[in-house]
Amino acid sequence: MSETSQLPRRKRVALLGATGSIGDNALRVIRAHSDRLELVAVAARANWEKLAAVASEFGVRDVAVYEDSAYSAARAATDRFPSGLRLRGGLGGLVELARLPEADIVLVAVVGTTGLRPALAAIEAGKDLALASKEILVLAGKFVMEQARRHGTRILPVDSEHNAVFQCLEGHPGSTVSRVVLTASGGAFRDWPAERLSQATPADALRHPNWAMGPKITVDSATLANKGLELIEAQALFSLQPGQCQAILHPQSIVHCLVEFNDGAMLAQLCPPSMTFPIQHALLHPERPRGVEPPLDLSRLFSLEFRPVDETRFPMLRLARQAMMAGGAAPAVYNAANEVAVAEFLAGRLSFLGIPAVVDRTLGTFPHSDPASLEAVLEVDRESRAVAATWLDRCR
Ligand code: MG
Repeated sequence: MSETSQLPRRKRVALLGATGSIGDNALRVIRAHSDRLELVAVAARANWEKLAAVASEFGVRDVAVYEDSAYSAARAATDRFPSGLRLRGGLGGLVELARLPEADIVLVAVVGTTGLRPALAAIEAGKDLALASKEILVLAGKFVMEQARRHGTRILPVDSEHNAVFQCLEGHPGSTVSRVVLTASGGAFRDWPAERLSQATPADALRHPNWAMGPKITVDSATLANKGLELIEAQALFSLQPGQCQAILHPQSIVHCLVEFNDGAMLAQLCPPSMTFPIQHALLHPERPRGVEPPLDLSRLFSLEFRPVDETRFPMLRLARQAMMAGGAAPAVYNAANEVAVAEFLAGRLSFLGIPAVVDRTLGTFPHSDPASLEAVLEVDRESRAVAATWLDRCR
């Protein structure tokens, strides 16, 4: 037998969200490991020109563009894509790529909850699912995890903290875990005094100290809603009780999680703050070839600090815990109200402190329910957005 025939077959990747920051980093990983990974499908919301460049570089013929106008533009420019192009549009296009027979693993990295249907399609088709869009589990964690169990699908978290928890938990039964602590960099306003926060502008919020990410998640980091969403995500992914999920401030973003076991021992996961690490882990699991970027340099002096999160300055974390404790539809309401408020803040029409105010009032006024189906959750998502919109005027 020749040496090459003993190598495992390349893992075939469908990348939904190929033009955002997760997409960029995923492409770096796939480029660096072209002997192990093969890109077979790509999708984007609207940036079809960048998508065409990606498809051409990797010779990908299965392509989807989510937004209608961008899809039309792409259809009129098929010469920019590789020959033999199979171009799809809309949510249906994303779902088709998610169940493409040629793919082994689907990386869902589209913004917000757009990825929910495609993620479920990948699960039903028996693909491995690498999940970067946390909103999917916040909105419908119960249903997604149930489906994954039913179909025996592996969910590999790509969010850095959850990927870290996944690594720390491997080989440890859930009953041995006492709590999971996610680290938070603290975002752009980590060291701002409370009185200054009322003046914070979108430009201020978009200056993240450690991570380069899209605008929605960068604002979520500044309010700590991102950490709130991540606590909810962790609860769903790892079948935890709300009280077992905690957050701690860690300005260096080198330790990504701490997992404490019943005997008091803690495991931590450390690596530089770059998404190529969790993406590579998720795409290549359980293999561990050399990373795309250098590991931590222990010959240089650096320190690791931890401190409690100040929930008075960052009420979005308190509201997230409140939503987790309430359970049922509350996490979906938290997520929807936050999306509405952040969009308004980014448009310059809502103050920074208006974001938690809108979420607090929406949670307080939206009737509590325990949705029994995915359709019911999606209804909660729609209705709570409408309720959040009614609070905008009074929270500006
Ligand atoms: Mg994260």
